[in-house]
Amino acid sequence: MNQSFNSLDSSDSFNAPGGWGAGGADDPDGRFMVEALKCARAGLEEDEVPVGAVVVYGGRIIGRGYNQREKLADPTAHAEMLAITAAAQARGTWHLEECTIYVTLEPCVMCAGAIVLARIERLVYGAPDPKAGACGSLYNVPTDRRLNHRLEVIGGVLAEQAGGLLTDFFRKQRKLGKK
Ligand code: ZN
Repeated sequence: MNQSFNSLDSSDSFNAPGGWGAGGADDPDGRFMVEALKCARAGLEEDEVPVGAVVVYGGRIIGRGYNQREKLADPTAHAEMLAITAAAQARGTWHLEECTIYVTLEPCVMCAGAIVLARIERLVYGAPDPKAGACGSLYNVPTDRRLNHRLEVIGGVLAEQAGGLLTDFFRKQRKLGKK
């Protein structure tokens, strides 16, 4: 429990640099990020690290997910993986071209890889993850020219809210003497 976003316990880690990223809750990206934040809060209620994701196709959400690593006892049960699986089931294909994925936290190496493999067209994320992020922080998997699919990446959308959820979660965990 001390790798990946679980280790992000510094309250400053999730704050986007000033002026970085777009949007309020009013623009389309902000609107879907609000939905991803709702997913993250659902995780919070189950004492999971609060990260949420939604996959959007044709202006409609076709997959949702939140981190359920504890509940499912599965290291791959990140929000993005569950949302991508749900979206692929909804579409009846693993090809998720023309889809956008919204994630409250910058995806890790595994999830960034899955996003590329699913041929997703756009990634919009909230808070950067300087310790495990693979979409600009540590690595840049979605735009790596050596891979056969690349996608547009927008970071920092509603970053403060996304990061705030994580900061609150880890603060509470520390207070409870956990982790
Ligand atoms: Zn991940």
